[in-house]
Amino acid sequence: SCKTPADVLRVVADDQIEMIDLRFTDLPGLWQHFSVPPRALDAESFSAGIGFDGSSIRGFQEIQESDMLVVPDPETAFLDPFAEARTLVLICDIRDPVAASPYSRDVRYVARKAETYLAGTGIGDTAYLGPELEHFVFDGVRYDQGTNYGFYEIAAREANWDARQSEGNGPGHKLRAKEGYFPTPPADALSDARASMARILEEIGIAVEAHHHEVAAGGQGEIDMRFTTLTRMADNVMIYKHVVKNEARRRGMTATFMPKPLFGDNGSGMHVHQSLWQDGRPLFAGDGYAGSSELMRHYIGGLLVHAPALLAICAPTVNSYRRLVPGFEAPVNLGYSQRNRSAACRIPVYSPDPRAKRVEFRCPDPACNPYLAFAAMLMAGLDGIRRRLDPGEPIDENLYELSPEKRAAIPSTPASLEAALDALEADHAFLLEGGVFTPDVIETYLAYKRAREIDEIRLRPHPYEFVLYYDV
Ligand code: GLU
Ligand code: MG
Ligand code: MG
Repeated sequence: SCKTPADVLRVVADDQIEMIDLRFTDLPGLWQHFSVPPRALDAESFSAGIGFDGSSIRGFQEIQESDMLVVPDPETAFLDPFAEARTLVLICDIRDPVAASPYSRDVRYVARKAETYLAGTGIGDTAYLGPELEHFVFDGVRYDQGTNYGFYEIAAREANWDARQSEGNGPGHKLRAKEGYFPTPPADALSDARASMARILEEIGIAVEAHHHEVAAGGQGEIDMRFTTLTRMADNVMIYKHVVKNEARRRGMTATFMPKPLFGDNGSGMHVHQSLWQDGRPLFAGDGYAGSSELMRHYIGGLLVHAPALLAICAPTVNSYRRLVPGFEAPVNLGYSQRNRSAACRIPVYSPDPRAKRVEFRCPDPACNPYLAFAAMLMAGLDGIRRRLDPGEPIDENLYELSPEKRAAIPSTPASLEAALDALEADHAFLLEGGVFTPDVIETYLAYKRAREIDEIRLRPHPYEFVLYYDV
């Protein structure tokens, strides 16, 4: 693994690298890239940057101010196992050449600022994040570049429950809905695919803790990465998605991280385990409820108080709110508990080791931009600590089975992306602390989501409307 520009240049020469691939993440959270031959990369590139046209990138610059620079981070270098030419990938920061400063809408910059902000608060020096990305691998659906074929195919299958994915077992054998967790092959037809994905992640240098089939029968899986620091983990999430999507494609399948592709079965979450540390000391361990410290309970208070606004960033699609409904292990109520998977915040109690003490925020899904989501959750938790917010009593009953009166007493997750965006518009001062998020980033994000996603879906007839209404 590389530390300095010189390390990277040595790898390029010694490993006969044929192509340098420069990557960054757009505002909604997709990786973008362009490639240059090795001679275009020198020591200078790591400070002066390499130019590109930022005008057509979602959420970035206007056409009249489109010249931007990528500045590669040497510590992110890895060999892309899916590229034909020997390709070294470098994840980049973005600079605005006119302002001669980091680009304010660069999501990686937001993540790095959140880490700097944490250190400046004196509360702790390090935040560790451990996201669990669930996903689906489908065998029958193809990406047809240039068309929306894949999307319509999935929508049509959703409207017709019987035609759901067979997961490679042939039409005669299908897992029953919600029984994917976790019988052995041949029921788990994706075990080999996940093992390859996990091996590739390890080869890239991302430690994997486990991989398994998930509850949904339509080919749902999860590969868990070992926790690490905030920006590094957001980089790892982007690498994870790249590996899962490309390994599925190499096997003639497609992977999707959309939160709820199938009606009537579990959706895909991205539970995020989080903890704060100071000088190697875990700040979340204590002698309170479920081995928590007071500081941790305030952090949870911050997550819960700001949850409606946070979800605009952490569960950022119209589709996300089809997942956040009762009955599918996704959180619906904004409470916390040590074992309750229906609560928004869970305090795992697998291990008595204080270093393992963490909160698992279960609302996020893998459609989010991890740089923005991790930064926003940390800012919410820190606001909870600063304002000593009280998360209330834990809820150890099954929240799905509470009486309607009891359930009504606990606040719920927003019912739609629209509601979450309204919450973010009303509640984002905690994100602006220390200049971590800027008003421009929040405004651009809200405008993008409202115009490009909410309106685009609201104005289109849904396939299921034909089932309900065609014969009216
Ligand atoms: N798939 C569930 C969700 O949407 C989570 C299942 C689990 O607990 O891992 O959050
Ligand atoms: Mg899971
Ligand atoms: Mg979990």
